[in-house]
Order: sequence, then structure tokens, then C-alpha cells
Amino acid sequence: MNKNTFILTHGDTGAFETGSVPFEVRIPLNGHGKKSVKKKTEVYPGLLVADHENANIGDMHSGITGIVTAVTDTHIIIKAQELAAPAEGEEPKPEGVEPVALASLEGEQLQAALKGLGVDIRPFLKRCELLIVNALNPEPGITYAESMLVHAKSTINAGLDMLKRLSPASKAVVALPTGSTAAFDGADIAFINPQYPNSLDELVVASITGKESMRGINVVDLHALYNLGAVAESGMPLTHTVVCVEGKNVVAPIGTPVGALLEDASIEVADGDTVLLGGPMRGEATGNLSTGIGKNTNAVFVVPAGTTTPVSDYACFSCGACIQHCPSRIQPNMISRYVEFNELDFCRQENINACMECGLCTYYCPARRPMLQLIRLGKHKITLEETQVTACALQVEE
Ligand code: SF4
Ligand code: SF4
Repeated sequence: MNKNTFILTHGDTGAFETGSVPFEVRIPLNGHGKKSVKKKTEVYPGLLVADHENANIGDMHSGITGIVTAVTDTHIIIKAQELAAPAEGEEPKPEGVEPVALASLEGEQLQAALKGLGVDIRPFLKRCELLIVNALNPEPGITYAESMLVHAKSTINAGLDMLKRLSPASKAVVALPTGSTAAFDGADIAFINPQYPNSLDELVVASITGKESMRGINVVDLHALYNLGAVAESGMPLTHTVVCVEGKNVVAPIGTPVGALLEDASIEVADGDTVLLGGPMRGEATGNLSTGIGKNTNAVFVVPAGTTTPVSDYACFSCGACIQHCPSRIQPNMISRYVEFNELDFCRQENINACMECGLCTYYCPARRPMLQLIRLGKHKITLEETQVTACALQVEE
């Protein structure tokens, strides 16, 4: 393994810049059934645009001033523009929303307020005894973690304080890359060797506890903690997030099109290039530069055409490289074949769900098989199958 390829530390790359206001935002919805805007509604930063019936899934808000141009099941599209001045005698138009006083709230009231401010609180409520904040850069090439710990320290501290109010854990540990000098009140520190794949939650837990089990442990990543902290600190809706665009970190409105982020960073996309949402190891390719970033989008990368052999559905020739590098100690070669032939029971027998989705099997496969993608497909099919079995069982019981 070339250690430089997998290094997870990049030093302090400076405070995050706020990107230009995009010409439009495409706010992605994920089952947000109730829309509070319609086509031609005038919106401003912080205005609620869609809510979710699940009490733990954050509502969605506009991050810009503009006009709604489309409302679909999957997106709300807003064109950026100044709103027309109020007619004579009309009230001045609002330019923002009032902050919510979160300090005095507790329990369900606090959870409801955070949900209303756009925070997905599910990851923070998990029953556990030990809470671990994974403060490493998640993948090689992603550079925000160290700068976040320096330049957004108050936001991270606000996030950690809020996390401790939400989580039932009795103990908190922050996992930092070896050599970091960051310090936190009310949390222990653990150092992790900053080489990928050591940033994966399962390996962070193994390093801290010495156990290969996540039982009784909740891991929250730094990006999610930053989003939580931004809301906790301001009492304002979550409308922006940090995205690492080819190594440069910017704060952008949720829904900013990928193409606008790349253009702002002076990165051109040519025919045949692959655009990734997420990091180079685990990210997902998108063929649409209009795709809007979500709350959890932490990075955008471009893989220029010709720099790697394209992944395709070539046959495995049993070299064993994927097995050799798999941190889960499973057999990606066999699992990927079983997925191709829809042999889901064999996938289960080979412990497909132990896969941490690190992407190393894809990286090392000389046949350029889409290993990670096949394994994700297999997991998805198993989930669908098990959901159907449960639904049928419930119908029989009725
Ligand atoms: S992505 Fe591949 S190498 Fe990584 S844990 Fe899963 S099977 Fe193993
Ligand atoms: S690395 Fe690729 S070719 Fe080699 S055994 Fe794994 S799947 Fe097969």
C-alpha cells in the first residue's frame, strides 16, 4: 500500500470560505411529504419549504432569497433573485427568520425544535453507553476536519454540548488523528493513526475499545456534528453545510448544484470525466451537474477521463487482491459474484453485511470490477427482500 495515497491528514487549510450564491438551488427531498411553498412563492433564507412526518427527520429550508420555480416529490427548485420591493402601503418583506431559543428546551421539546430547524436527529439519539465523535477526515483527499477543529471550534463545541444533551451515553470520546492538539471539555481524546481506512467507524471503535463490535456504542462524524453545532450555536435553520470541492472547503447552501460548486472552484468538467459526490473511495458518481448537494454531502471530486481504467462488469480472475486488502476479512470476490447472479442467501453466508464499504476492493481489483457498487446493490436487495418478508408476515397476522 502506498501510504501517501491513503493519508488522512492535510494540516490546517484555513477558514472555510463562503461560496458565491448559486443561480439556483435544488433542495433534495427525502420523503418530505408536506411542502409549504409552491411554484412562484417568494422565499428567503431560513424559510421552511418542506417538512417530514417522521419526528426525527429534519425539515428543509431555503438557504437563499429567490422564487420557487418547481416543486416535485424529490426536489424544490429555487431561482436566486432579489424580491420585488413591497408595493406602497404593503408591509416590508421578511429577509430572514427569528432564532429559536434552544438553551431552555429539553427532551422531546428540544428534539422537536431541532427537527423543525432541519436537523436529522436520528443519528444522535441511538441508545448507547459510549459516544464517539469521529473527527478524522473520512477519506483520502477530503481536507475539512483539521480546519474545522481550528476555525469552527465554537461550532464544534456547540455541537458536542448539544450532542451530549441528546445522547443517552454516559461517556464521550473524540477520535483525533495522531498528533492533533485539539482539546474538548467533557470528552476524552483518543488518537487514531491517520491512514485510510482507519477513519471508518468500525475501525475507530476497534482502535478505541479493542473490540470488533459496535454494541452499546454510537459514532457521530465531524460533518454531522458541525451541522448540529451550526444550529445549536445560532438557533437558526440548517441551510448551509461544508463541502470539500477537490480539496478546497466551502460553506454552501444546501441544494447548490454540483456544477455551480465546481464552476466556483474554477474546475471544468470535460467529456468522459467522472463527477463524484463524496470522497474518491466511497463516493457515488453523478451524471447530472444540476444535482443539488444534501445536508450530508461532504465532498465533490472530479476524476478526469483517462486517469484510471474505467470500472466495468469484467469477470473476476481470482487474483485474491480484494481479499488481501479487505479490512472486514470477508471475501469480496465471492460476494460480488453472488450479487451478479442474485444469490442473496450465499451473500448472507459470506457475511455481506460485515462489509464496511471502504472501497478498497474496487481500488485494488486489477480486473476493474465494480466491487463496492455490487456489494451495495446486494445489501440493498437483501434489505428489500427482508422488508417484503416482514410486510407479508404482518399482513398474515392481521
Ligand atoms: S468495500 Fe470491499 S474491501 Fe471494503 S470492507 Fe467491503 S468488501 Fe471489504
Ligand atoms: S481483486 Fe478483482 S479479480 Fe482479483 S479476486 Fe478480487 S474481484 Fe477477482
